[in-house]
Amino acid sequence: MNTSEIYPTALVIDDEAFMRKVLATQLRSLGCKGVICHESGEDALNTLQQHKDDIKLILCDLQMPEMDGIEVLRRLGDMGYGGSLILISGEDNLTMSMAKKLAHAHGLNLLGGLRKPAQSAELASLLSRLPSPVRKTERSRQTQQVCAKELAQGIRQGQLVNHYQPKVSIHTGQVVGMETLVRWQHPEHGLLYPDAFIGLAEEHGLIDQLTHGVLAGDHGALAHLKQWRQAGFELHVAVNVSMDSLHDLNFPNVIAQLAQDAGIGLQNLVLEITETRLGTNMRSVIDVLTRLRLKRVRLSIDDFGTGHSSLAHLQELPFDELKIDRRFVHLAHQDQSADNMLAACMRIAHDFGIETTGEGVETEADWLHLQRAGCDIAQGYWIAKPMPAEQVIDWLQKWPSRKLPETGAAHGATPCAIAPGSHAIT
Ligand code: C2E
Ligand code: CA
Ligand code: CA
Repeated sequence: MNTSEIYPTALVIDDEAFMRKVLATQLRSLGCKGVICHESGEDALNTLQQHKDDIKLILCDLQMPEMDGIEVLRRLGDMGYGGSLILISGEDNLTMSMAKKLAHAHGLNLLGGLRKPAQSAELASLLSRLPSPVRKTERSRQTQQVCAKELAQGIRQGQLVNHYQPKVSIHTGQVVGMETLVRWQHPEHGLLYPDAFIGLAEEHGLIDQLTHGVLAGDHGALAHLKQWRQAGFELHVAVNVSMDSLHDLNFPNVIAQLAQDAGIGLQNLVLEITETRLGTNMRSVIDVLTRLRLKRVRLSIDDFGTGHSSLAHLQELPFDELKIDRRFVHLAHQDQSADNMLAACMRIAHDFGIETTGEGVETEADWLHLQRAGCDIAQGYWIAKPMPAEQVIDWLQKWPSRKLPETGAAHGATPCAIAPGSHAIT
């Protein structure tokens, strides 16, 4: 690996002198620009105040005599610290997972937790999650500056671009579908990610136009699916739909028309539904989803277990797939409470007889753990990051030669050709 200075200056807060020394050495050798160490939280926060612009990474021990790590988290939250954070602990897994939840609740950008004694490989893997400076600037700049008018214009002018992330059967290793993740190619600010504009679209009544733009036209998800299927890949395409779009009773007809125009059977379309706001009028949602299902569109409940997509919805809505949020997938093999949630999601899906997809598979260990848990489909950076449409066919052609764990053998030489839900369980 290139060990030139690729990471920002790090601030280490740990009362144990030995740990500070070990971490400082590891951080420097992994490519941090500088490392500042403090024994106490109070001193560290003073340093942070003075060097706010330089310190973009904090490693903080939980167990410390005066100000403990939990208090440091609270203070970082209060000061709106926007850099990244790694928690260090010699405590049990439950304490670490509670502290992680707290970090999220404070709105902190947590890269993950490190168990004592710190392993350099684990630290390297956490550092690799640091946001790249380019993407970070684009995102933060844009959340402040884009306005609804610009977005409406962007949608009209075709500035939305779909990226696609593969969904792979854990049972067979075959690609079953592609999830569409929209980006906005902004003329001034470059490529923007959904968290910069989906909320805006929902608040300003633009989400239906956005969904339409994602699905329709020569560069829409349905046209792309048509190309992949013509190239011999029997995939489905999944599109994210906010619950706001399900109030329009005409939505199923619009979808059916778009699919017909694109020459795509509705059984090859999956709609991934996330509840983004409370107070939804469930009557129209049930009406719309039931009619979509009658038309053979497959329905998926996204971000399951996060509080947005609730258990009650499973009972009243006709879902075919349950997507397990990445916080219960990535690292679940070493985090007991995440693993408990994963197991609970699996049981619920099994009881309802629906297929499961685990999101956020970032490592081989995540894949193996999902496999042991009995999950059907996997998605995540370890398989592939979301990619532009032009790269999909090339990726699909290469995927069969990728060696997957368990057998260690390549898992098939022909283009994958299975319909969603029809993979064999081996
Ligand atoms: P989502 O549906 O849960 O999509 C998964 C998000 O996780 C994507 O972020 C994806 O890039 C990211 N991801 C995938 N694999 C991994 C992994 O292994 N590790 C990590 N850390 N992240 C991974 P993205 O593209 O930024 O999208 C964020 C959210 O924006 C999506 O979450 C979805 O809710 C929403 N979104 C995206 N496209 C659309 C759209 O066309 N319409 C609507 N309404 N929402 C959309
Ligand atoms: Ca999704
Ligand atoms: Ca999700």
